[in-house]
Amino acid sequence: MAEHLTKAPKIPPDGEPIEFAHGRLSVPDSPIIPFIEGDGIGPDIWRAARLVADAAVEKSYGSDRKICWTQIYASERSIELFDEWIPQETFEAIRRFRVAIKGPLTTPVGGGFRSANVTLRQTLDLYACVRPVFWVPGVPCPVKSPEKLDVVVFRENTEDVYAGIEFRAGSPEARKLAAFLEEELGHTVREGSGIGIKPISRFGTRRLMLMAVRYALEQGRRSITLMHKGNIMKYTEGAFKDWGYELAADQFPDDTVTEQQLYDQHDGKAPEGKIVIKDRIADAMFQQVLLRPDEYDMIVTPNLNGDYISDALAAQVGGIGIAPGANLGDGIALFEATHGTAPKYAGQDKVNPSSLILSARMLLDYIGWNEPAGLILRGLKAIVAQKTVTYDLERQMEGATLLKCSQFARAVVDNM
Ligand code: NAP
Repeated sequence: MAEHLTKAPKIPPDGEPIEFAHGRLSVPDSPIIPFIEGDGIGPDIWRAARLVADAAVEKSYGSDRKICWTQIYASERSIELFDEWIPQETFEAIRRFRVAIKGPLTTPVGGGFRSANVTLRQTLDLYACVRPVFWVPGVPCPVKSPEKLDVVVFRENTEDVYAGIEFRAGSPEARKLAAFLEEELGHTVREGSGIGIKPISRFGTRRLMLMAVRYALEQGRRSITLMHKGNIMKYTEGAFKDWGYELAADQFPDDTVTEQQLYDQHDGKAPEGKIVIKDRIADAMFQQVLLRPDEYDMIVTPNLNGDYISDALAAQVGGIGIAPGANLGDGIALFEATHGTAPKYAGQDKVNPSSLILSARMLLDYIGWNEPAGLILRGLKAIVAQKTVTYDLERQMEGATLLKCSQFARAVVDNM
């Protein structure tokens, strides 16, 4: 343990930082990539994900390329070692090295520290939470045609009710705010209410939409749906929808077409190469992804809707413990498992490491190392098809073979 007892990352001597200039990453052959193991099952799934990522890189590039992993700290491990939730050095390392990966972190319930995850996202201005959701053939799931779902969610990550502007019922702040609302703005808030504020800005919405449209163009996606509750929250979620359309129209007039224009001008058929921009009210969206999943390709949405729809979509394809995630800012990215720390399984080498393995795959794609990224998906699909899986899938699959977390990782490597 002694070798890890510094808050700053130990820089591998042969590693080089990833740089970012003119809107593009420049990735050396030995990029330094910081990792946070995470709490609970974090160390188990991180070992698995690292094994798979390293093997995929080696298989693709031999000794020409490798990732120089370097450990940084947050949450329980950081408290244990340094008596700090998130040391400054952790923020600095992610800023400096630009691309990092993390296991799940404990969120204390109730007062005190809010959430290490939210703090990392907000402090580093990782404004987009990106979750690709697709079915891995063979994974047990509750719908009849899971293969029809292949959606990427772009969730705004810094605004909305997650901004943390919230006051306890009966607190002086809540009373003061209620008095202000009544006296200055003519709105009555019931006595004894907790009050939260929901800020959604044009700036925050436009930069999210910009990232999403660029992603759609790069990845050949066909449509973007703005998911909102603008019929009720007109000046926050309604404005989000309007600003999303506005960005597409003023920045990408030749690459996008609205659903309205599609019917008014193109007989309802998308012109070749154009991305269709549409919007859906949040509650209808939940029905749509179940009833007509193949009509949705990308969803761009404020923070809270994004939280709900990401998990609902992942559940739809049986992938709540499998779905990967990324928190992206401008030239900065933090990849992460989307499930929690599952503390009851900590240290048992038991759980499914797929979420973090697939997050490592996203990381490789993000730095342009597409070949090892492809190998990882191939290996994972192969072992699920063979029904050699961890307990969570084994208990739902007839005739499956049970693997430990580490065995699962080795099996992915053997099948790449
Ligand atoms: P959780 O840790 O996701 O675990 C809930 C259940 O999901 C587990 O008991 C297990 O189900 C299943 N599960 C989760 N990960 C799995 C995996 N890799 N393989 C197989 N099954 C898995 O949710 P929680 O218990 O609500 O949260 C625990 C802590 O994690 C909390 O402190 C929470 O705040 C935190 N959290 C962190 C993040 C993050 O860092 N991004 C996200 C969510 C929650 P069975 O018991 O049925 O097997």
